[in-house]
Amino acid sequence: MARESFEKTTLPADSPRLCTTCGTPIDTTEWYPVTTVPEEGHRIYAFCGEVCRERWRRETDS
Ligand SMILES: [Zn+2]
Repeated sequence: MARESFEKTTLPADSPRLCTTCGTPIDTTEWYPVTTVPEEGHRIYAFCGEVCRERWRRETDS
């Protein structure tokens, strides 16, 4: 089991390129927030910014 860090632009090739919340294309040359969901096989959700990540968290929390 490799422990991965997504703090920089070191995402795997199959990572999403659109914001999960609003669908905005993400500039993958710069840092952007991502979230992995262990319950979904560590599926990666990418976001255009912290605002969209927080919104997604609130919507999926309930
Ligand atoms: Zn967004």
